[in-house]
Order: sequence, then C-alpha cells, then structure tokens
Amino acid sequence: HMAKQRQGVYCLRYSGQVDHYHQRLLVIENRIRTAVEEKKIVPFYQPMFSTQTGDLVGVECLARWHDEELGWVSPEEFISIAEDINLIGKLGETILEQAIITAKKLSEFCPYKDVYFSVNASPYQLSEIGFVQKVKSLLEQYELPAKLLKIEVTESLFIGGNEYAINVLSELRALGVSIALDDFGTGYSAFAVLREGCIDILKVDKSFVQNMADNEQEKALVAEIIQMAHIMDLTVVAEGVETEAQRALLTEIGCDVLQGYLLARPMSEVEFCPYMNCAGAA
Ligand code: C2E
Ligand code: CA
Ligand code: CA
Ligand code: CA
Repeated sequence: HMAKQRQGVYCLRYSGQVDHYHQRLLVIENRIRTAVEEKKIVPFYQPMFSTQTGDLVGVECLARWHDEELGWVSPEEFISIAEDINLIGKLGETILEQAIITAKKLSEFCPYKDVYFSVNASPYQLSEIGFVQKVKSLLEQYELPAKLLKIEVTESLFIGGNEYAINVLSELRALGVSIALDDFGTGYSAFAVLREGCIDILKVDKSFVQNMADNEQEKALVAEIIQMAHIMDLTVVAEGVETEAQRALLTEIGCDVLQGYLLARPMSEVEFCPYMNCAGAA
C-alpha cells in the first residue's frame, strides 16, 4: 500500500558498484536483525518541559543503536531500512517494551510520577495487524497506566485518507493512550489530518522553531498554528528548541511544552534515571 522510494541499495545491487555510503547501508541491513533480537537498539529519553510551570512533563523515546563495527547508527539511517526489510514492527515493539519498563520503574521510584512517555510509531508498524492488541498487552503486562503512554505519528500515516490507520488511532485512544502528530507542517495534509479528530498533541516541527527567531512571517505562522491548535483543544509541543530566544518566543506565543537541546539532550537509561532522581530504578 505505502510505496517506498528508497531505491539506492537496490539499484546498486544491479550495477555492482558500491560506494562507502551504500556499503554502509548494506552492512546496516545485514546487522540490524541481530541488533533488534539482542536488544542492542534501545530507547534514549529526551525530557519535555511545560512553559507554564517549568516542570518536566514528559519524555520522548528515541531509538539508539551502537554497533561494534559501525559505531553509532542514526535512526535517520536505520528506521527506513527496518521498514524496507519488514523489521519495523519488531524494532518498534522492542523500543515500546523497553520504554514501558522504564516508565513503570519511574512511576514507582521517581518523584515525578506523572511523566508521560512518548514513543514514535512508523506508519508501517502502526498498520500491522495486532498493533493495538500489542500495546494493550504490554501496558497490562507491566501494569503501566495508559495515560502515561503517548504514540507519535507522522502525517504520512494519513496519506490517501487511510481509514485503517484512523481506526487504529481511535482504538488506541479508547485504551487511554494519547496521540501526538509529529513534524507538524512538514507534510502536505497537516490540516486535513487535524480534521480527522484523532490527535491530542501537535508537535511543531523543529524547522519552524529554528526559523522563527529571525523571520517574522515564520513566527506569525507558528503563533497561528498554536492558536488554532488550542481552539481544537490540542496541546502544542515545540521540538528542536536550541536557544533562549526560541524559548522566550515560544513561551510568549503560548506554546505549552518545549523539547530541545537547550533544555535537555536525549539520555541513555543509565543517565536518565539519576537525572530523574529515582533511587531504586536503573
Ligand atoms: P523525530 O521524531 O522528529 O525526533 C526528534 C529528533 O530531533 C530526534 O532525532 C532528536 O534527537 C532531535 N532533537 C532533539 N532536540 C533537538 C534540538 O534541540 N535540535 C536538533 N537539531 N535536533 C534535536 P533522532 O533521535 O536522530 O531521531 C530522528 C528521527 O528518527 C525521529 O525524528 C523519528 O522520526 C525517527 N525515530 C527515532 N526513534 C524512533 C523509533 O523508535 N521509532 C520510529 N518509528 N522512528 C524513530
Ligand atoms: Ca517524534
Ligand atoms: Ca518530530
Ligand atoms: Ca523528524
């Protein structure tokens, strides 16, 4: 159904020429299955803060892979490969499970009990049969309240008015899991997606955040997006906040939650638990 356009690796197989870049993609493709099975791909946690109170309100779970041979492999590289080789379901599931385990520990040992965990889901993963059931059974298995889990989806999920996906989102919401629309404004159908009414959180893409400090039009646009989101009862998160100027501006125009290197970097579980002050966890 969702045609993929990453042709590089496949073309090269025919031509027989392999440059460094494509060589690396091939090695990733060869090693990623084992990495997933051995849980070498793990979530890192990046905190998000309320502009109103300054409190840490949630964390985004971002996949990280350190391979002995390849070094650090970026999710920008390996997620699309995992999608191509039909491994994204399994990969997404191990990230989700690890995130839920950490979330549970945190809710038991940490002073910030209501911190939510926001996990990215690829359109392919979300469209696999049994996804909702999997989420439900993991929440039950680890006894994590559903309100502490959010799923981040991108506009591409909705291409062609994907009714199956829209259904999946409403089933997740019926469980109590909220949905965030990631990278808002980078696709072509952002507003159409909002009108489906199955989104709770809007994440303004970092490209807007990074342009708005020195571009009046971009600033006005983000302000309008925030107003509109609030009319629709959505919470607005800005990602990629790197400077004080950006933080001040976003707070001024009513953004609810901030995420970015200025506030905190993504952390491994080992760094994250002490950061969160949870004796007993990790
Ligand atoms: P995303 O969901 O838009 O995640 C935000 C990206 O921005 C992350 O990159 C994060 O590390 C980075 N970031 C955070 N703060 C800042 C900042 O202040 N400035 C800048 N320039 N960047 C910042 P990362 O971790 O490399 O992930 C890249 C993308 O890979 C993610 O973009 C997401 O689309 C995908 N991804 C990551 N983990 C997963 C996963 O578990 N499952 C799926 N399906 N996709 C994932
Ligand atoms: Ca995300
Ligand atoms: Ca994003
Ligand atoms: Ca992105």
